[in-house]
This record gives sequence, structure tokens and C-alpha cells, in this order.
Amino acid sequence: MTAAEGARRRILIVGGGTAGWLTAAYLAKTLGANLSGGTEITLIESSDIGIIGVGEGTFPTIRSTLAAIGIDEARFLRESTATFKQGVHFVDWAETPAPDASPTQALGTVAGHSHYFHPFNFPHQGNGPELLPYWLLGGAGDAPFAEAVTLQKAVADASRGPKRAIDPPYAAPLNYAYHFDANRLAVLLRTVAIELGVRHRVGTVTDVVLDGSGAVARVDTREHGSLSADLYIDCSGFRAEIIGRALKVPFKSYQDVLFNDRAVALQVPYDRPDAPIPSYTVATAHEAGWTWDIGLNDRRGTGYVYSSRHTDDARAEQVLRRYLGPAAEGRDVRLLKFDSGCRTAQWVGNCVAVGLSGGFFEPLESTGIMLIEVAAHMIAQYFPWGETGLDSAQTAASMAATARTYNALMGKRYERIVDFLKLHYCITRRTDSAYWRDNADPATIPESLRDRLAVWAHRPPGRFDFVADHETFLPASYQYVLYGMGFKTDLEPARALHRRMDEARHEFRGLRTVAPQAVSSLPTHRELVEEVYRNG
Ligand code: FAD
Repeated sequence: MTAAEGARRRILIVGGGTAGWLTAAYLAKTLGANLSGGTEITLIESSDIGIIGVGEGTFPTIRSTLAAIGIDEARFLRESTATFKQGVHFVDWAETPAPDASPTQALGTVAGHSHYFHPFNFPHQGNGPELLPYWLLGGAGDAPFAEAVTLQKAVADASRGPKRAIDPPYAAPLNYAYHFDANRLAVLLRTVAIELGVRHRVGTVTDVVLDGSGAVARVDTREHGSLSADLYIDCSGFRAEIIGRALKVPFKSYQDVLFNDRAVALQVPYDRPDAPIPSYTVATAHEAGWTWDIGLNDRRGTGYVYSSRHTDDARAEQVLRRYLGPAAEGRDVRLLKFDSGCRTAQWVGNCVAVGLSGGFFEPLESTGIMLIEVAAHMIAQYFPWGETGLDSAQTAASMAATARTYNALMGKRYERIVDFLKLHYCITRRTDSAYWRDNADPATIPESLRDRLAVWAHRPPGRFDFVADHETFLPASYQYVLYGMGFKTDLEPARALHRRMDEARHEFRGLRTVAPQAVSSLPTHRELVEEVYRNG
């Protein structure tokens, strides 16, 4: 062993799901697992305990994460059978569906159902004014907000892709993320991480041994004896082997705010091989939760996420089957249970929790994988390299200081996500079931969100309502959800301040004119995806 190798810092990642492999690949790239003097990274995953295998929708940040790891976009699309995602199409969240409305799988707008779109593109900002106040003052007529301020809704509604061709990679005129097969993505990330120098061990951690200070001294495994490291990353999923079982960091439940705690999931085929692939997640509200519907090229991934306090598993399965119709016949659902919440600290001593071990709220708006990305980026930056001359007490003190900063930022981020997710539920006008009535009950809405809703009744959400480093969802996302749901911001008293109505109307007209051209210039989503797959 060379002197440089002897001094190498060591990371041990426990768990090989999306959290484990994404973190491993990102850290290997940024902390130089392949370099002499870089960090030694080992990942251990159990062959007996599988990965959760759901979590197929992402947020646009995934593009820069994959690019930073160095994964070619076309390879990623092919190997994880990914498709493009331009936003989320919400059905029946704002209003109770009409009693005579036929069940819908919601491609496009269906009579008797309320709809809105949360696109990934920010509202258009040309040379004119910010469009939102003018939309609130009626400058776009009765066009829904997302339709008035972006082209993306028209493009997504027409089942078009966000770009003409795969090149340039990770870039497009329209903002996008992906849907993918979670099991295949884990395999791809594993291959790439190993190429980048991560050591892979298949084995089960049977014990986590702490030292006198309460830090992790080593983990014992069934197959590989004891393993030790400078930093342990707990990616063991809901089992939370280190952060929960060994370190006993308390779990803060948010079930009194976010009620969903179960899901039934089912993969179904399309009704024909050339069926259009929606380039958005379809999120349809039901009596005690909502269904996700995600289009890959060869199948749909679907599920009903619900509150066990408001319905039971048998009824939930019925709701999912009724939503899917004949596509679900002869197929078994998979039941998943979770508690909505997170650890009170994500980084304790020499252990950081990433992924489900650290927390999970629910599938809405794909925050799970995005939080993994944030954690990986932050760990790379905060990595405690240690300094020559520090004794073990000083190293522990330095690590504790890092942990405090990390926990403060991550803790805020978790809290802010709770508010954003709750927003989807609490401004509903649905009163048809206890689930929706309870969701709108002010006692279940965090005070921070109640305060914002009170001020947003008189002015729209703006930049200074948000601290960028705490936020996952920026003002645009809040605006799309608020106004998609029919929330009222009364700007009339301030009408006189908004003197650029003519310019705003010009911008609204421009977007309406350009939208059909944008649609016709883009390939269908299926054409775009199949072109990438063919050229592999
Ligand atoms: P897992 O996939 O459970 O992996 C845990 C790993 O730890 C496995 O490899 C296992 O073998 C290993 N392990 C456990 N114990 C041991 C041990 N003792 N020794 C060795 N190895 C061990 N997120 C999104 O971003 N978008 C979505 O659309 C989305 N939908 C979701 C829907 C549902 C119903 C649920 C429950 C979650 C969803 N998520 C979603 C969250 C997403 O699935 C997870 O964030 C993501 O898959 C990461 O999981 P993980 O790697 O933390 O855990």
C-alpha cells in the first residue's frame, strides 16, 4: 500500500437501491474514488433484502446529477427504459368529479373532471412584465394559468417530447425530467459506480457497533466480517439499519399533516403497442388518496397511494382496479406501507442517512429521489477530509460542526417540502369524503403554510417568500399549484399599480400563437424515445 493509499479517507455505504447507488456514483466521481489520494468508497447491499423498486418519477435536477456523474443521456434512457417527464397532470384534485362523469385515465381534458397541469417550465418571462399579476387581473381571459404562461402544456397535451432529438444531451427548449424503471436504473448506476472505482460487496449487515462516544466503530456483516470507515452512509431504506436501529435517531412523523401511509402498486401494459406515451405523470385524486400513472415505452407504472385511516387495503385495491379497467385484469397488486416523516437529524456523528432511511413523505411531486440528489451534492461538498495533525477528538468536533450545518439545511428543506405537498390537498373544494374534508381542516395545515395562504389571498407568491437554499420548489411551482387549484388572489385593490397590461396581453397572445408551431415542430414522445432506443 502506498502512503497516499494509507491516508485515503473511507466511505462505507450500506444499501444498493437508488439512494445507495446514486450517492455512490456521485461521490465516486466528485471525491475521486479512482484517484490515488481520492476517497475509497465501498457499497454493501444485501441479496436477501431487495430494493423497494418503486420511485419512477423524477424532478428536473436529475439531469444535472446524471450529467455530473458522467452518464451519457442516451445510455441512461436506453438502459433504464426511461421516458421524458414535463410535469404532472392533476385530475379531480380541485373539485369532486361530477356524479355522472365517466371514470377517466385522463389523457387530455374529460368532461365532469377538474384538471390542472404543473409544468416544469417557469412562466414565460420575455422583455415584458412578469405575467402572473396580469393573468390574475384577467389579461389572459379565461385561459388556465399554466396554459397562459408556458408552451409546455400544449406540447405535453399533444403527447410531444420536450426536444427534437437526444442531442444536445441533457438540454432542451423545454424543461424536463424522466420516468424510468427503478430496478433497471439501480443496475445502471451500479455499473457506472463500479466503473468509477466503487468497491461492491454483496452481503448483509448483521450488527452496527458503536464506540464509546456513540459514533459508529464498525459494521459486522454475515459474508465479509467487519467493515469500518471514516463516514458511514445509511442507504438501507425503511430498515434504517444505522440511523434508526443502531443510533436510535428519533423519527418525526408528519401523519397529522400528510395522511397517506400506504400504496398499492401495479404495472400494466398499454392497450396497444403504439399507444401515445404521456410525457407527464397523471395524478388522479380519489376518495382517500390519489393514483399515479407513469408511462414508460413498454408499460405503465401505476399505484394508488392512500390513508389507512380513511380507507382499507381491499377498498384501495378496488379503487386502483376501477381506475385501470381491463388493463389490471389478472394482475396482482403490491402493497407498500410507510410512515410519512423524517429523522430529526440526518447526520449524526460519522453517519449520514440518505434516501428512505432519512425520511419519506409520499410519492407526490417526486421528492424522494430529488432529496437523494441534494444529499449526495451536500455530502460531496461537506465531506470531512480531516486535516493532518487533528486528533480523534478534534476530528469528531469538526464532524459534529459539519453535521449541525447539514442538519439545519436538510431539516428546513424537509419542512418546506411538507408545506408544498400539503398545499396540493388543503385548498381543495372537495367535500365528498372525510379524507378531503380532513385535509382542508386548518388544524391539519402547518402554521407556516396557513400564514402564506393568508397573504397570498392578496398578493401572489414571490421570491422573498422563499429562502432558496431551503426550497426544493420555487415560486413557480407554488403558483402552478395554487392557481391550478383555483386559489383566489385578489389583486383588484392594487390594479392601478399594474400599468403594463398592454404589454402583458401582447405576451399572452404571442404564446398562444407560438404554441401550435412548437407542437408541430416536435416529434411525438414515443417517436423521440424509440429513436433513442433504436440508435443504441
Ligand atoms: P431501497 O430501495 O429500499 O434500498 C435499500 C437497500 O438497502 C437495498 O439494497 C437493501 O438490500 C439494502 N439493505 C437493507 N438492509 C440491509 C442490511 N442489513 N445489510 C445490507 N443491505 C441492506 N421517489 C421519487 O423520487 N419519485 C417517485 O415517484 C416515488 N414514488 C414512490 C412510491 C412509493 C409507494 C414509495 C414507497 C416510494 C416512492 N419514492 C419515490 C421514493 C423512492 O422509491 C425512494 O426514495 C428510492 O427508491 C430510494 O430508496 P432507497 O434506496 O432509500 O431504499
